[in-house]
Amino acid sequence: DQGRGAETLTTASTCCYCGVGCGVLIEHDGERILGVSGDPVHPANFGKLCSKGASLHLTGDLDARALYPELRLGKGLGRTRTDWDTALEHAADVFARTIREHGPNSVAFYISGQLLTEDYYAFNKLARALVGTNNIDSNSRLCMSSAVVGYKRSLGADAPPCSYEDIEQADTLLIIGSNMAYAHPILFRRLEAAKAGNPQMKVIVVDPRRTDTCDVADLHLAIAPGSDVALLHGVLYLLLAQGRIDHAFIAAHTEGFEALQALVADYGPTSVAELCAISEADLRRCADWIGRSPRFLSLWCMGVNQSTAGTAKNAAIINLHLATGQIGKVGSGPFSLTGQPNAMGGRETGSLSNLLPGHREVANPEHRAEVAAYWGVDALPQTPGLSAIELFEAVGNGTIKALWIACTNPAQSMPDQQRIHQALSDCPFVVVQEAFFTTETCRYADLLLPAASWGEKEGTVTNSERRVSRVRRAVPAPGEARADWSITCDFARRLEARLPGVPSGHFAFDNPEQLFEEYKVLTRARDLDLCGLGYTLLETRGPQQWPFPEGALNGTPRLYGDGHFPSANGRARFIAETYQPAREQRDRHFPLTLNTGRLRDQWHGMSRTGTAPRLFAHVEEPLLDLHPQDMAQRHLQDGQLVEVRSRRGALVVRVQADDSLQPGQAFLPMHWGDRFLKGLGINALTLPAFDPLSKQPELKHAGIDVQPVDLP
Ligand code: SF4
Repeated sequence: DQGRGAETLTTASTCCYCGVGCGVLIEHDGERILGVSGDPVHPANFGKLCSKGASLHLTGDLDARALYPELRLGKGLGRTRTDWDTALEHAADVFARTIREHGPNSVAFYISGQLLTEDYYAFNKLARALVGTNNIDSNSRLCMSSAVVGYKRSLGADAPPCSYEDIEQADTLLIIGSNMAYAHPILFRRLEAAKAGNPQMKVIVVDPRRTDTCDVADLHLAIAPGSDVALLHGVLYLLLAQGRIDHAFIAAHTEGFEALQALVADYGPTSVAELCAISEADLRRCADWIGRSPRFLSLWCMGVNQSTAGTAKNAAIINLHLATGQIGKVGSGPFSLTGQPNAMGGRETGSLSNLLPGHREVANPEHRAEVAAYWGVDALPQTPGLSAIELFEAVGNGTIKALWIACTNPAQSMPDQQRIHQALSDCPFVVVQEAFFTTETCRYADLLLPAASWGEKEGTVTNSERRVSRVRRAVPAPGEARADWSITCDFARRLEARLPGVPSGHFAFDNPEQLFEEYKVLTRARDLDLCGLGYTLLETRGPQQWPFPEGALNGTPRLYGDGHFPSANGRARFIAETYQPAREQRDRHFPLTLNTGRLRDQWHGMSRTGTAPRLFAHVEEPLLDLHPQDMAQRHLQDGQLVEVRSRRGALVVRVQADDSLQPGQAFLPMHWGDRFLKGLGINALTLPAFDPLSKQPELKHAGIDVQPVDLP
C-alpha cells in the first residue's frame, strides 16, 4: 500500500467523513500530508472524491490540534499541560474512586461514529467487562439508531441488505429523507451517471424541501414535515388496490401481513394526499412506478431516522419491499445510508448502550453470557445502559459523576444544547479524548487527551454497504497525540490495577490488528460473520463486504436472496404502526417548523472542515432559509439579522429567501456551534424528544419564531 512516487510517498486509506467510505490515496513525505486523490481501485468511489474528501490535506491545521495532555486540578481553574503518565494515572484514580463509592453506573462513556472499529471494541470491553456498566453510547444514537431497530424488527438483524451497485441497477428509486447530493455526494454521482445511461430509470424524492437531490428526481413529493408514515401506508394501500403485491413471497417468507393490510385500509389516497400536502395524482404516480418496477430500491437517511417516529418510518419503508418481494435481488431492497464513516462499525461492535459485540443485545441473557465467557469475566452487567439523551440527563442530575467523551462534540451536536452545556459544566470529572482542542466540548474537559487523527492511525471502518476497509497511517501524529485504541487500553490497564477483584491482562494489546483479531471471533456464526477477514486479507484483496466467514472466497454483496431472514423463525415481519405527527407542532407562539441538515462542504461540528477556508466558499455562515411569503409577512430582507427562537433557546443569524421550502417551514444548517456564533449554536433550538424504541432524538422538527433584530 505504501509506494514511492517521483517525489512523494502514497498510502491508501479511507475517507474520514461520510458513510460512503471512499478510498483515498494520501500523498505525503513521511512527515506531512501533501495531497489526496481518489483511490481508483476502491469499489466505493473508483477514484472520485467529493469536495470534502478532496480537501482532506487542507484540514491538518496544527493550530487547532490538541498536542499534549492537559489537566484541570479544580473547577474554575485553567487546564495546564501534563504528561501522559500523570494524566492517565489521575483519570484511573478518579474513575476507580467514583466506581468504588457510587457504583459502576456512576460513570459513562460517550463515543463516536468517527472512531475505528478497533477503538470501539476497546471502549466496549472497558465499559462492560472492566467497569461493569452498560453506560456506553455513541453519537450514532443521533444518526442511525432508528435504522438499527428498523432492520432488526422487520428482518431479524441489523444488516442493510444492498450494495452500492444496486443504485445503478435499480429502475425505480425512492429517496426519502436524504439529501444525498450533499450528504453522500459520491453515491449521488453514481446515481446521476446511472440515470443518464438509463432513460427508463425513475427517481422519486420525498423531502419537504426541494434539495439538490431533486435535480435527478422525476417526481418530488414535498410532503408536510413528518408525514412519511402516512405517505408510505398510502402507497401500500394503492399497491394493494392495484394488485401489485407479491402474495407468494409474503406467504413463503413473511408474517404479520394481515394486520398491516387492515391498518392501511385507513390510508386511502384522498386523505393521505391531504395529510401529506401533496396532490393525489402524484401519490398515485409514486405507487404506480413502485408497483410496476421490476427493481425497486429505497434509500434513506436522517430525514427518516431523526424523528420520534423514526422506527415506524423505517418499518413502513421495509414493509413496501416485503409486500412487493423487492428484497434480496439485484437493484432491489431497503438501503439506509449511514451518516458517519464508521457508524456501521459501532453497530457491529456493540457501541450503543443496548447492544453487545457481534450484533448481540444486552437484554438477552444468552448474549451476555457468550460475551462474558469470551472475555473471561463472570458476568456482564444486565442493567440497561443509558442512551445519549438519557445519559446527559443523568450527567445533569448528578447520577453520572465521571464522563469520558471520545472523538465527538456533544456540546455542539446534542439537542437542547443549553442543558448539555450545564450538565457538562456541573459534572465532577469530564475526560475529553479529542484531536481538535477547538470543539465546544473541550471547554468542559477536566482532562484533555490528545488523539491521533485521520492519516495518523491504523484500523478498519465499515461503510453503508457493509464493506470493511483499512484506514492507514501515513504520517506521525503531532505533538504527543496517540491513537484512540492505545489511549483507551492504557487507561484500562491502569484501572484494572485499581479495581478489586478484577483480573488483569485483558487490555494487553500492542497494535490495532490484535484488537481486530480478538473482536472478530465474537462475530463467528453471527449474521455479520467477519472471521474470514483480517488485515492481511484486506491488504491483498482490498475492501470486503460482510458476512465473510472463515474460508469464504468473497464477501457478500446482497443479503436474503434465498428468502431466509435471520429472525427466530426465518421469516421477515411486517410492522403495523399508525402515523404519528412530529412531537412539536407549530402554534401561534412558534409559527414556523424548523428543519436542520447538512451543507455540501461541511462535516458535523466543523472541527476538521472548519479549518479549511476553501470549504467556506460554498456557504460562509449559517443562514436561516425562509419561504419568500414568510419573509414578506415579517418585512424581512435577504441578509438581515434575525433572532430565531424556540421553546429552548434563541440565536441570531442572517435570513435568506428560499422558495425550495414550503410556506411555514424554515431550514438551518446543523454545523455551527456556539464558538462560531454569538450566543448559542444551532442545536440550542432543537428538542430532546426521542423515538421510544430507538431513542433517537427528533432533530428535524422544532417550532420556532423569527423576528428581526433591532440594531442599535
Ligand atoms: Fe468522503 Fe463521503 Fe465525500 Fe466519499 S462521499 S469523499 S466518503 S465525504
